[in-house]
Amino acid sequence: MAGLGHDEYRGEQIFKWIWQKNVQDFSRMTNISKQLREYLNSTHTIKGLESQRIQQEDINAQKYLFRLEQGDYIESVFIREGKRRTICVSSQVGCPLGCKFCATGLLDFKRNLFAHEIADQVRAISEAVGEKCTNVVFMGMGEPLLNTGEVIKALLIMSSPLGLCVGRRHTTVSTVGLIEGMEFFLKSPVKVKLAISINFADEEMRKDFMPVTRSNPLREILQLARVYSKGKEMITFEYVMIKGINDRIRDAMNLIRLLKGIPSKINLIPYNEHPRLPYEAPTEKNLRAFYERLLNSRHTVVIRKSRGQKILAGCGQLSGSMTEQ
Ligand code: SAH
Ligand code: SF4
Repeated sequence: MAGLGHDEYRGEQIFKWIWQKNVQDFSRMTNISKQLREYLNSTHTIKGLESQRIQQEDINAQKYLFRLEQGDYIESVFIREGKRRTICVSSQVGCPLGCKFCATGLLDFKRNLFAHEIADQVRAISEAVGEKCTNVVFMGMGEPLLNTGEVIKALLIMSSPLGLCVGRRHTTVSTVGLIEGMEFFLKSPVKVKLAISINFADEEMRKDFMPVTRSNPLREILQLARVYSKGKEMITFEYVMIKGINDRIRDAMNLIRLLKGIPSKINLIPYNEHPRLPYEAPTEKNLRAFYERLLNSRHTVVIRKSRGQKILAGCGQLSGSMTEQ
């Protein structure tokens, strides 16, 4: 608005209408002069995301498919649990990193999302369910730290009291551990919780399943995690357990060795199966044994069973356009 020669606070007013009050029509922005509203109507349009399809596992887990302007598709997930209303957002169309076990990695990478497309997933879903979102996790499609500029802008929109008002402490960015992106976040004044998808404690195995490890070695990832955990925030490590691959006690012990000296919380995610991938969920027995081995090493450990598996809305099951075929 300042750029158009108007008072800056007009920008704030419009921002609030769009993000907080869900108004996408300048004519309804009643605290703005009629003349300005008419001018804006004739020169600008506001276009929010519209969901193409909503799939529901039960009332507490829903998957949204959004079609973007250029015809790409993304998915986002809504989860209601106790007082929490969590929205899992996508940060890219597809993902270029191609982790072998992840359905998003099967897709061609199309592009990074813009900040408004990321934040709008939260606005559109909150509006659809009629409830305020309390938590945001960047665990949908894509690697957020390959898109740090837009992710940071989206975080500012989401946390702004004029916007969606989701506290930064209630926002988690999940990454495979990109050194450059983590360094950028460490220096950035925008503080959010960081989760690192560690998944394999063995470097060679990680290179095989997560090729990004070749240019981002475990040693360097953990060195940065150490620096990160010196701040107030405890770092989270995600470990996707896959049957017969990384679910043995030996793997648990390797993980303990790897994370030694880093105050951390470990999220164990039993593998979510996908029709196009050959991997399987661990047995309940192996999951328990792994969990207990970690607990005995005094780590904070949580088993995170993904919600929405039946509608392929669990971690690593999102595949946007693929579901259209
Ligand atoms: N690219 C980021 C964020 C999106 S993936 C990242 O990888 O961290 C979100 C989480 O889903 C990651 O922890 C990833 O390891 C996990 N994941 C991927 N495929 C999975 C699957 N099939 N079952 C369970 N978790 C999976
Ligand atoms: Fe991309 Fe994350 Fe899936 Fe790997 S696990 S392919 S980084 S979305």
